[in-house]
Amino acid sequence: MPLLLGCIADDFTGATDLASMLVRHGMATVQVIGVPPAAERHGQASGLPDADAVVVALKSRTAPVPQAVAESLAAAEALLAAGARQLFFKYCSTFDSTDAGNIGPVADALLKRLAGGFALACPAFPANGRSIYQGYLFVGGSLLNESGMENHPLTPMRDANLVRVLGRQTDGAVGLVPFATVARGAGAIRDAMTRLKEGGRRYAIVDAVTDDHLMAIGEAAEGHALVTGGSGVAMGLPANFRRAGLLPERSDAATLPAPRGACAVVAGSCSRATLGQIGFARDHVPVLELDPLATPDAAALAAQALGWAEGRLAEDRPVVIAASAPPEKVAALQARLGRDAAGALVEQALAEIAAGLVARGVGRLVAAGGETSGAVVSRLGVTTLRIGAEIDPGVPWTFADTRPAGLHLALKSGNFGGRDFFLKAFEHG
Ligand code: ADP
Repeated sequence: MPLLLGCIADDFTGATDLASMLVRHGMATVQVIGVPPAAERHGQASGLPDADAVVVALKSRTAPVPQAVAESLAAAEALLAAGARQLFFKYCSTFDSTDAGNIGPVADALLKRLAGGFALACPAFPANGRSIYQGYLFVGGSLLNESGMENHPLTPMRDANLVRVLGRQTDGAVGLVPFATVARGAGAIRDAMTRLKEGGRRYAIVDAVTDDHLMAIGEAAEGHALVTGGSGVAMGLPANFRRAGLLPERSDAATLPAPRGACAVVAGSCSRATLGQIGFARDHVPVLELDPLATPDAAALAAQALGWAEGRLAEDRPVVIAASAPPEKVAALQARLGRDAAGALVEQALAEIAAGLVARGVGRLVAAGGETSGAVVSRLGVTTLRIGAEIDPGVPWTFADTRPAGLHLALKSGNFGGRDFFLKAFEHG
């Protein structure tokens, strides 16, 4: 299938969120971890997997500006070499960035590469309470700068007016397509963007309060070389490709290879949701709680866990291996080893356990925790994830390209998922 939409996401879970959105709207989608290898110069191989949409997951949100720009441009080259007809730059629905960047500089560099001249910017995601009115971003009922985001440790958002925020990150002029125009539909939005472009604006913040608005904005962005925003505004893009006859109706966009092998969960998240999920699982399936304070050694913890799992692995229910602990236990390990070393020890142990479980026949694995997932994916050597159906909002099953047989993998950010997540994941998986 020809690649239609090439996406560059500035963090890992944001990439999965976008990929899930595209699958839900009928595009077969693959997430690639990190800048893909350069396309073969003379061959046909692009180095990218077969899909309607490819989402390249970078870790560029808070990287130094030159690095974020260079990685985003390298990702763009790979996507364009694979034939992408439109690029999408995905950032957070709370527009996480500082006055130094990286949203403005990355968008500037992509626009220059595409000779695009103009792009819309719309982080709105009404389903998650992010809406934009008169250029002001709201989180639920609060302005962005009164939502808690003003205290974010890395990207404090102290101004809710996105025209001003983006304006400080670019030497291009930033305009607004206001709510009253957006409410009149795709044609009115398109006309407004044309006028802004002709008037010398490089960007337009576009208001959006409902999914209908996002669909209309997506339709108005047909033919744009670059679209920028949160995963919400991407919902309107697949229909453009369908209307142009490029994207068949797909009822199977979320279909993954048949699951096989035993089931397991490794958990390193200490968030409240994950602790609740472990508590729930304890009443239903075998659960091992690691004690890194008693055994502060990754290899020894892994050996203990793999020994315990031996004889308990099954194809119809998971084993759960968790380092997750309440705050006082986490604090105790951190006091002994230091915060970074404590995190690294547990991540290394869980990654080793994940690899050992796969070697022992686990074919379906849930990793709980953002950093934990990163460590597991990296230890397993996963480079691409085909995106399947969601287990709970924001957490799809994926199929990883590990050798020899591939692996079903669900990467759960700490706070995601209902109490029964570790059981529910394997009901249909
Ligand atoms: P979340 O998505 O909830 O933030 P992460 O996996 O990103 O979860 O972060 C949890 C961090 O806590 C990881 O670095 C993990 O290694 C660490 N951790 C897990 N269990 C313990 C523990 N018992 N003591 C100290 N640190 C722990």
